[in-house]
Amino acid sequence: MSTLFNHLVSKTIMHVPGPVVGLFAKGYIAGEELGDAVRVARELNGREMMATIDILGEFITTRDEATFFKDQCLEILQAIDREGLDANLSLKPTQMGLLLDQEFAFDNIREIVEFARSIGNFVRIDMEDISCTDATLDFYRRLRSEYRGHVGTVLQSYLRRTARDIDALSDDQMNFRLCKGIYNEPRTAAWKNPDVTNRNFVWCLEKIFRQKGYAGIATHDTRLVFEAQRLISEYGLAREQYEFQMLLGVDEELRGILVDEGHRLRVYVPYGKSWLPYSKRRLKENPGIAQHALKQMLGMRGQ
Ligand SMILES: Cc1cc2nc3c(=O)[nH]c(=O)nc-3n(C[C@H](O)[C@H](O)[C@H](O)COP(=O)(O)OP(=O)(O)OC[C@H]3O[C@@H](n4cnc5c(N)ncnc54)[C@H](O)[C@@H]3O)c2cc1C
Repeated sequence: MSTLFNHLVSKTIMHVPGPVVGLFAKGYIAGEELGDAVRVARELNGREMMATIDILGEFITTRDEATFFKDQCLEILQAIDREGLDANLSLKPTQMGLLLDQEFAFDNIREIVEFARSIGNFVRIDMEDISCTDATLDFYRRLRSEYRGHVGTVLQSYLRRTARDIDALSDDQMNFRLCKGIYNEPRTAAWKNPDVTNRNFVWCLEKIFRQKGYAGIATHDTRLVFEAQRLISEYGLAREQYEFQMLLGVDEELRGILVDEGHRLRVYVPYGKSWLPYSKRRLKENPGIAQHALKQMLGMRGQ
């Protein structure tokens, strides 16, 4: 039943009218303007949660678009600073021109990280599909030596390579968001069995902790939250040595529970005018999201 539903969503999503997709997307996106993201981040801060702000737009096709998004990222950092928010920035390498010209994209990201350092903030380089993994990790490796403490990236536990990547990147400034991964990757690159992806998540998280790295534990999966709490306790970590991360609009109850238990938690706050193509692409790549959203709309709880 669930496979049939996923197949149907994947085949038809590009033809579904905007307002219908909007029903699914609404809860996951702060709004179209930076002011919307600032408002949501302020509300989250009021509930003792941190934010990471992301402007929607990826896989762009011209240098002008990349420059536009670079300027938007600088504006986000300025707004965070001006408004005194407890928030940082997440950006996507393809939004900075990765697929047009790698060094051009690197220079754009470097300029943003440089500015983040000047105001004492931090940039998280999101991880996109497998065609971007090598370049994204290379950007991270090059930037972290120059901008210690102001840049981090993302690792995906569905990738077969991730444990090796942690070993290769191991040093005392490791800063990774660890998530399962959202793209539809081939079996040669990714574990296709969800149980293996989960076990790899726990294995990789433990590797990061053992190698004294900082982890953003990005999941809403109760089993993984439990495993992370077990490891935090076993490694005797202070609350500054890790954070939980969740998406806007997903399982607010779990968010509250973690904060009440004394953990630091950051919410991913996307905004922007490209919400329609973004949402359609996400639903096409991972139709399971539609099931989650449908359950959420019907008030049915995850596990
Ligand atoms: C802060 C953050 C940043 C991320 N950054 C990246 C990135 O850079 N690159 C990348 O590839 N992936 C990224 N992801 C996505 C991630 O890889 C997963 O696809 C996503 O988090 C779902 O996995 P899960 O661990 O929550 O487990 P799942 O098993 O997918 O979900 C567990 C439960 O959470 C609920 N849930 C999960 N997702 C949703 C949803 N969209 N809507 C409603 N309910 C939901 C459901 O109740 C579900 O049963 C990010 C996720 C987070 C939280």
